[in-house]
Amino acid sequence: MSQLYQRVALIGLGLIASSMAHAMREKGLAGEIVGHARSAETRDTALEIGLVDAVYETAAEAVAGADLVVLCVPVGAMDKIAEEIATHLAPGATVTDVGSVKRAVIDAVGPHMPDGVHFIPGHPLAGTEQSGPRSGFATLFANRWWLFTPIEDTDSEALTRLKTLVEAMGANTDEMAPDHHDLVLSVVSHTPHLIAYTMVGVADHLRRVTHEEVIKYSATGFRDFTRIAASDPTMWRDVFLTNKEATLDILGRFTEELFMLQRAIRMGDGDMLHDYFTRTRAIRRGIIEAGQDTDAPDFGRGAPKKDA
Ligand code: NAP
Repeated sequence: MSQLYQRVALIGLGLIASSMAHAMREKGLAGEIVGHARSAETRDTALEIGLVDAVYETAAEAVAGADLVVLCVPVGAMDKIAEEIATHLAPGATVTDVGSVKRAVIDAVGPHMPDGVHFIPGHPLAGTEQSGPRSGFATLFANRWWLFTPIEDTDSEALTRLKTLVEAMGANTDEMAPDHHDLVLSVVSHTPHLIAYTMVGVADHLRRVTHEEVIKYSATGFRDFTRIAASDPTMWRDVFLTNKEATLDILGRFTEELFMLQRAIRMGDGDMLHDYFTRTRAIRRGIIEAGQDTDAPDFGRGAPKKDA
């Protein structure tokens, strides 16, 4: 595919930005890719491994002359960055973000955007528990959803061009209202992460089971919680601070269901437990049929080592 943007500025050079850089380079989607990260270490690494053609010490310098700016920093850092770049954006440029929460980003970034700049909030539903400039890979977005939550008066041409870019990186695109996005994501991502953090925290506090036992026998289920609970602490702190209402709503529902299951176990209500687990199994089948996971046994990890 031919170049869709002449100069792309990636602000923040972690997992999502580096995956975008790899994917854009592989497909030749951008004339030039430049970037900014707050630490010299990340900037040096990004240059060294060829993620970007140039790095800048400030976000303001990085966005100059860019026709696409992608904000790839934690949600809590968006406000300051948007304020810093506002007067340096090129007329007609598109500014998008990849933040996991949309209402808070719109409130933080929107007011800083000058007339003539197209601000189109976005969120790729793709990630791993890794972070930093070395963690990205070109296929991260393949067959994953990339949601856009356009605000009022979004320029349709700018939106189409941006969708074409992320589709060329392998993603499927969809549009959603920002508040609905935040509710959906609290169900499919944010609350599950909180539950994983909690389960790993419980194991950490339990004194009757040793640390060695938890690690040694983890392949029975616990290990899958630990993968999620290893996700970046700053990113997830910001997600919960900025998607507070939806998370508390879903967490309240989760707690009610948990009490219901707890009661069924106490009362020996096997029928209730069996019916419940039958319904949840159907959701897993739906995810596989939608191509959002494989049905390889043990998540495709292969047989565990003898004493792992
Ligand atoms: P990451 O790997 O941790 O990278 C974050 C980048 O932002 C780093 O380059 C960091 O710079 C920079 N940064 C952090 N705080 C900053 C600040 N206050 N000012 C300037 N730069 C700052 O993060 P990521 O996983 O790519 O996540 C980036 C965004 O994508 C977040 O908004 C997150 O919600 C969203 N997202 C993440 C995932 C996921 O699974 N990881 C999935 C979808 C969307 P230094 O390296 O110099 O510290």
